[in-house]
Amino acid sequence: MDVSVQNDFIIKMIDHEKGKGMFANRPIKEGDVILTENPIVSCQFSWNLEYGYLTCDYCMAPLETAEENVQRLAGNCEMFLPHMGCCKTDKSSITECLACGVKYCSLNCQNEAFKRYHSTLCLQSRNVDTNHPLVQLNEMWKRMHYPPETATVMLLARMVAMVNQADNKEEVLATFSQFRHHTTNETHEIAHNLLGEKFAGQIDILRQKMQEALNVEHVAHWFTPDGFRSLLALIGTNAQGIGTNAFSRWVKNVLDSKLPEEEQRNVEQLIDVLYDDMDKVVGAFLNNEGSGLYVLQSSVNHSCAPNAIVEFPYSNYALVLRARRDILIGEEICISYLDDCNMASSRHTRQKALRSLYLFVCNCEKCQAQANDPDVTSDEEEDDDTDAEDVEEEMA
Ligand SMILES: [Zn+2]
Ligand SMILES: [Zn+2]
Ligand SMILES: [Zn+2]
Repeated sequence: MDVSVQNDFIIKMIDHEKGKGMFANRPIKEGDVILTENPIVSCQFSWNLEYGYLTCDYCMAPLETAEENVQRLAGNCEMFLPHMGCCKTDKSSITECLACGVKYCSLNCQNEAFKRYHSTLCLQSRNVDTNHPLVQLNEMWKRMHYPPETATVMLLARMVAMVNQADNKEEVLATFSQFRHHTTNETHEIAHNLLGEKFAGQIDILRQKMQEALNVEHVAHWFTPDGFRSLLALIGTNAQGIGTNAFSRWVKNVLDSKLPEEEQRNVEQLIDVLYDDMDKVVGAFLNNEGSGLYVLQSSVNHSCAPNAIVEFPYSNYALVLRARRDILIGEEICISYLDDCNMASSRHTRQKALRSLYLFVCNCEKCQAQANDPDVTSDEEEDDDTDAEDVEEEMA
């Protein structure tokens, strides 16, 4: 199926090089929601989980209250938040897998996870068994991919488990195969970029460990050396970063709640102080972080001057694509694949990042307009080298 028509947009093939794209099917106004979508699979990053960022193992909703969140991130358990009615974490609905203790925001999430992949991936014990092949797989990954994280091998494990548990395995495999594919050569390059030069030789060890942990008959083609690289390339180029955070949800709600003027000023001051405190302890690592595969959103191409933006306004994995400006009927809808820092940098720096992470040369309006700029490198580039940053929009 090359053309898919929804109310507000059409997804169609552009050309072999660009693949699919999303186009406006009606005039869209600045601020309009173009699309709301849940991922077909998602997973919290491995270090993020290890460092105690508490989320629902299925939908990534925060499991802490805003107060607990800020106490943990600022390393101060004496901290108290006012207006806790603005904290929307409902701890009374939290459940856990009786066998392994993994936590969920609701029974619904627990049941969905179990039905889709958790019955295959459940470790069956609350004590971490370091000899368990899945535990070893995760540990091996963590030694190859340090924060800031952009992927996790456990997302691949969930994909394998989903095929294993599906009644209609062909259908699940077909869903995964509609994500953008690459040639064998490109696949090697993307897989290596994901792990970095130093670990290029270890992809095969990771592959063998994954096969040992999850020997699922129907995905034998994912466990060949080329198949495994193409799986890494699939998540490297298609997976969208997800960020959720109980405190920033509280901030948004409290600022929206129309407090008396003086109280409003006090709260704003408190928020500034708390963000400073957290910055001193965890730096930029405020969010529960993970990534997921979104069927529709993955067809949205990059632009350095995007007309749309990805948000997580519900503090879970539900993604919202929103217009940043008015979009004409027939116009291509684009987001930025780069983080804010890279977005603000020179054409040369942006193109270098896009080439190494996504293997394309950007030819967007902004890049065309700057085509004659000298090939200078932006100052910021010295700090962050080859980190494969997905667009990780902090939830508002
Ligand atoms: Zn949940
Ligand atoms: Zn379990
Ligand atoms: Zn561009």
